Amino acid sequence: MTTILREEKVCALCGKISEHSEIGSTNAFGSPDLDTRPPEMKRSTIGMWIQACPFCGYCAPNISGIIERAAEVVRSDSYQQQLNDPEFPKLANAFLCFSQLQEFAGNFAGAGWASVYAAWVCDDAGFEMAARKCRLSAVNLWQKAKEKGQRFAEQAGAEEAILVDLLRRAGQFELALKICEDGLKKSPEKTIINILQYQKRLINNADAGRHTVAEAIKGKR
Ligand SMILES: [Zn+2]
Repeated sequence: MTTILREEKVCALCGKISEHSEIGSTNAFGSPDLDTRPPEMKRSTIGMWIQACPFCGYCAPNISGIIERAAEVVRSDSYQQQLNDPEFPKLANAFLCFSQLQEFAGNFAGAGWASVYAAWVCDDAGFEMAARKCRLSAVNLWQKAKEKGQRFAEQAGAEEAILVDLLRRAGQFELALKICEDGLKKSPEKTIINILQYQKRLINNADAGRHTVAEAIKGKR
């Protein structure tokens, strides 16, 4: 089961106190999605992965900690606009704001992951166009991460496997297929080979839906 703690947090930017839920403990049974989204119960704890200060709008996994340049970015028009963007669910806006903060701090790998989490929130809320935008934004941020030599996944071929899923689910089948081939060239371990080959089948079927790692291993069509 998941245990939830209520904690009072002092915002590192404005110094005001607000109450937030934090995960005491949780579990994950079953297979993750191809984009690494965990199964239940961890899956449903996503609302507790990010905190938003109700006073100044600072968004971070822990608003008592500071991120480089955060004071400047949080005051910017683009941040404030993202914070209240009606095109996205509120929780997705919080992740996208955190993504902006990390981007300005030069952490493109982390910024990409925050955009992926925003996409998951959009999926759950049925915001299809918004989910697509979040995925493509993650692809762009990870492109920058690669240019800066920042890793966003450890194993050989794992970065390609995640990028392929983002592109496929955003309907960018041609580019997804090319990145599948790039990943296979890196001689990844068997699970990643299975995932990339499964992705190729999904792409050839123009399937932009959610699928799991377990399906890829079974080779389910
Ligand atoms: Zn604040």
